[in-house]
Amino acid sequence: MNILVVNCGSSSLKFQLIDSDTEKANASGNCERIGLDGKITYKTNGKKTEIDVGLPNHAVAIKKVLDLLVDSNDGVIKSLDEINAVGHRMVHGGEKFSSSVVITDEIIKEIETCNDLAPLHNPANILGIRACQEVMPNVKHVAVFDTAFHQTMPPKAYLYALPKEYYEKYGVRRYGFHGTSHSFVSKRLAELAGIDYNNSKMIICHIGSGASISAIKDGKSIDTSMGMTPLEGLVMGTRSGDIDPAIIEYICQKEGISVSEMTLILNKNSGVLGLSGISNDFRDLVEAREQGNKDAKYALEVLVNRVIKYIGAYYMELGGADAIAFTAGGGENNSEIRKDIMDGLSAIGIKMNEEANKKRGEEVLLSTSDSKIQVWVVPTNEELAIARETLRFA
Ligand code: AMP
Repeated sequence: MNILVVNCGSSSLKFQLIDSDTEKANASGNCERIGLDGKITYKTNGKKTEIDVGLPNHAVAIKKVLDLLVDSNDGVIKSLDEINAVGHRMVHGGEKFSSSVVITDEIIKEIETCNDLAPLHNPANILGIRACQEVMPNVKHVAVFDTAFHQTMPPKAYLYALPKEYYEKYGVRRYGFHGTSHSFVSKRLAELAGIDYNNSKMIICHIGSGASISAIKDGKSIDTSMGMTPLEGLVMGTRSGDIDPAIIEYICQKEGISVSEMTLILNKNSGVLGLSGISNDFRDLVEAREQGNKDAKYALEVLVNRVIKYIGAYYMELGGADAIAFTAGGGENNSEIRKDIMDGLSAIGIKMNEEANKKRGEEVLLSTSDSKIQVWVVPTNEELAIARETLRFA
């Protein structure tokens, strides 16, 4: 079966057409600058094409994508009838959605009630759903939520110590994100480590420009570092992660800025970019550190220290750990950051295989045979995870 996976942002639409038999993407790409001028990057059979084309809205973007998929030269299918189902990445499902669902008008209304919790993402995701439904009314559209996997967290992990009416009235609680990645990677980690998924303790470190870590017990998320929004937790490319909440008022007063402006700073100008003043890309920081740049060194140290703290906390929360995985751009590729993190984990008996750690971007056992806990690199594949979920309903 062919599953089209769609991930819509406010001005972008990423897609992959995945063959469920081979689990390979036969075509993939990205529509950017929707509503501005428009550009499509389209990849198939190892060939990459960039097309400047007017993309006034998401509906036009998806039509152009479908035209490309059936194009007589660059297409990978003969007709749209060959698309069996569409999987949509949805950022926030609140407490309503603890698993994927087939999209109906009723479901869209329910998703819309979660829009306040992700005002930048959810409306864009819904735009994408509507645009796809319009051109493909006869196939099943499935919503796969970033938050769903973490709905198994117990109250002690998801409640904030705030007046309880904020939770009751406004849904202020930890939801967690990157759920499709944590689910996909933890399942694969269990296979690689030879442990029973339903009787296991795992810690998954998703270290990309957005970063989060999760504690998975018996195949269920019991805690995760991102919170009501994806701002909490680890130090990220441009996001601060955990800070003392009193800092917000303090800086607002000192700088004469609004809370909204400060929130933007916490999301866009903080993290390793803010700390280093150099880059939000971990590679640039490792390079700058090698050249003696102190700010890059400190930025990486803060990032690494935060990951170590969370692993320590989750180790205790889980009551031990059978296996740990590194995933996402930084976790899969950045040997230097991995080494710094693993050096900080010796207290729980983790030992690193330096030779294995030289590998980048592939499944590899990073720990030595006498390490108390297996540590693996497990490349994530959120699109494939969405396609697998969608297939369940196709
Ligand atoms: P993501 O958001 O998952 O795409 O991850 C982005 C981060 O992954 C960036 O900070 C990159 O520095 C890092 N990354 C991606 N590829 C590599 C690589 N080949 N070597 C080192 N770091 C990488």
